[in-house]
Amino acid sequence: MISSYPVPVQRTSERKRIIFVSGTRADFGKLKPLIAKVNDSGEFEYQIFVTGMHMLARYGSTVNEVIKAGFTNIFPFINQDSSVSSQMDMALANTIIGLGHYVREFQPDLIVVHGDRVETLAGAIVGALNNILVAHVEGGEVSGTVDELIRHSVSKLSHMHFVANEVARRRLIQMGELPERVYVIGSPDIDIMLSEELPTLAEVQARYDTEFSQYAILLYHPVTIELHTIRQNANHVLDAALESGLNFVVLYPNNDTGSEVILEVYERLRGNPRFRVLPSMRFEFFLTLLKNSTAIIGNSSAGIREAPVYGVPTVNIGSRQINRFHYPSIVNVQDSKPAILAALSELPNSIVPSTHFGTGESAKRFMEHLHSLSFWETCPQKQFREHPENQYTILG
Ligand code: UDP
Repeated sequence: MISSYPVPVQRTSERKRIIFVSGTRADFGKLKPLIAKVNDSGEFEYQIFVTGMHMLARYGSTVNEVIKAGFTNIFPFINQDSSVSSQMDMALANTIIGLGHYVREFQPDLIVVHGDRVETLAGAIVGALNNILVAHVEGGEVSGTVDELIRHSVSKLSHMHFVANEVARRRLIQMGELPERVYVIGSPDIDIMLSEELPTLAEVQARYDTEFSQYAILLYHPVTIELHTIRQNANHVLDAALESGLNFVVLYPNNDTGSEVILEVYERLRGNPRFRVLPSMRFEFFLTLLKNSTAIIGNSSAGIREAPVYGVPTVNIGSRQINRFHYPSIVNVQDSKPAILAALSELPNSIVPSTHFGTGESAKRFMEHLHSLSFWETCPQKQFREHPENQYTILG
């Protein structure tokens, strides 16, 4: 059942209370395995605060994917409308207000946030300002745009960190986080990626009306610090896709500032039988599509963190994922038609599947921490881990 607002919640037991904050399809695929384990355990009371793009019809109303996943404790909150795209700051402010009211009612012991979205930052701010523990999933990673700044800011506001690997762990410790509060669990989406329960390609094709036997995926987001070139860049990407002769499944970008320009450029694809344009696909269906694709092109994290797990080549365009992860399957190119076409004509092959971001069982590891007493004894007053060369004398 979807709750209506506001919800007066009486504590019915001594069970710990957890709020998961989900703002987009991009975080839901990673939170979903964790929520499922929490749900199945029956040991916690939990709610999913669903907001952001999930609530926008233009972007596929992906709140329905949260509902279809079988979760019942959903609190939907509209933090923006789709009439304006340059409202990331407003969306942040609105989410703080909505979630702020909600935590006063639900009184959680823990807020779980993921990644680098403004809704993630809102979750961390509300937790930190209300002495509620915040757990951040997928901190310690570097990328491009404002995303990286948000991710590191969330890390500083979070009390515990569930990271994908040792590299991310070391970065957080470098940022002054306490080693004992940084837990390597792997990237939770890999639990689903490697599961044997993904739909077949035939099921994906039937559901999303795609008939291509061979195809690439195009997933291209705005780069929020390069808005002046966004139309030109999106046109270069599209020119290359058109000239490549390949079939494409094109997924809408996220709703960051500038996304409406990309959507306008995609109008050029209308009626072209080589292109199937979709707002969004259900996570498991997207994964099967990815697994069977010739390549993924664009600047989505799916090309960096997920395609290598399946050994699928990536043409990673522009600066959005700069510095994130280098792997033989990932070809980095500028937003230029010749560069994209050249990369598409010489895609890497025989790629060994990557285990850099994990090998599955992240949700199991997550639960082990939730079961530990010391986890819940984490002090809401964070400590900065001082650099060993800084010797302070505390003056009386
Ligand atoms: N994804 C999905 N459905 C889609 C497109 C992407 O579930 O139609 C997932 C994808 O598997 C990955 C994440 O969303 O886990 C990446 O999202 P996106 O490209 O929207 O954002 P980014 O992470 O690059 O900011």
